[in-house]
Amino acid sequence: MDFQPILESIASECAPLTREGAVATYIPALARVDQRQFGIALRTVDGMEAAAGSATTRFSIQSISKVLSLTLGMQRLGERLWERIGREPSGDPFNSLVQLEHEHGVPRNPLINAGAIAVADRLVSGDAHAKESLRALVSDLAGTPIAFDREVANSEAATGFRNFAMANFMKSFGKLDNPVDEVLDLYFHQCALSMSCAELAHAFSYLARDGRHPDSDQVVLDPKQTRRVNALMLTCGTYDAAGEFAFRIGLPCKSGVGGGIVAVIPDRLTLVVWSPGLGPTGNSVAGMRALELFVEKTKLSVF
Ligand code: GLN
Repeated sequence: MDFQPILESIASECAPLTREGAVATYIPALARVDQRQFGIALRTVDGMEAAAGSATTRFSIQSISKVLSLTLGMQRLGERLWERIGREPSGDPFNSLVQLEHEHGVPRNPLINAGAIAVADRLVSGDAHAKESLRALVSDLAGTPIAFDREVANSEAATGFRNFAMANFMKSFGKLDNPVDEVLDLYFHQCALSMSCAELAHAFSYLARDGRHPDSDQVVLDPKQTRRVNALMLTCGTYDAAGEFAFRIGLPCKSGVGGGIVAVIPDRLTLVVWSPGLGPTGNSVAGMRALELFVEKTKLSVF
């Protein structure tokens, strides 16, 4: 299939939609991003690439990083990772506190904030350089050096009151082993990784390759772990819009409040879209439409 003209037509159809929604303002550094941008990139499992729009512009990957930290956690801890994290969709916003009290500080899944904070805690244990370990994994997967945007990380640390509340709450239930500040330092930095659509399509390729590294046969995750990550993305990757995403797009997806969305078509390709205007559930409006158009035009689906 020739994907290049398909991505170009999606980019032009989605251009007017970049006016819709609004950039995330609760993280001051993200509020300054120009909303009228759109990028789309894909990479097939055998390394063919296609892209349109601002596909090489780097943006803050935000919650997309939750899949990458989960991957590092699964590599390090295997099944033990699940001792303090569930696997159920939350049906609540990504930064909701309500379920945590009912469920005694055990987050619903690793792709909401509380769950990613729980993963960060496990990564900090026994690794004095957890931030660097994560950055090294992401750079290796992307095939190019990836850096933290310190301004975004500092901005989020200065205004991350809800994330501090969540982490303290989990700590009060005895579900965090490390000091809240150390855990959130990793969490805020992972959210502040700066990557383009093309780099993300490359980095996430292991999820379309049964866990094999994007550029080699090295094992990033085993096939069973990979199926699980894709299943979590389908059911939990877009927060309380996961049902709507499954209905309209039907692919494992992970979004972030920077406006990026990564989608995986196992055994075929990874597809990444970015546009900063967010709808009410914190997902990119133009990005969601772009994914829907891609599935309509190519008929590629997991169902
Ligand atoms: N860094 C953001 C936060 O913790 C990530 C949220 C997101 O991308 N949905 O609020």
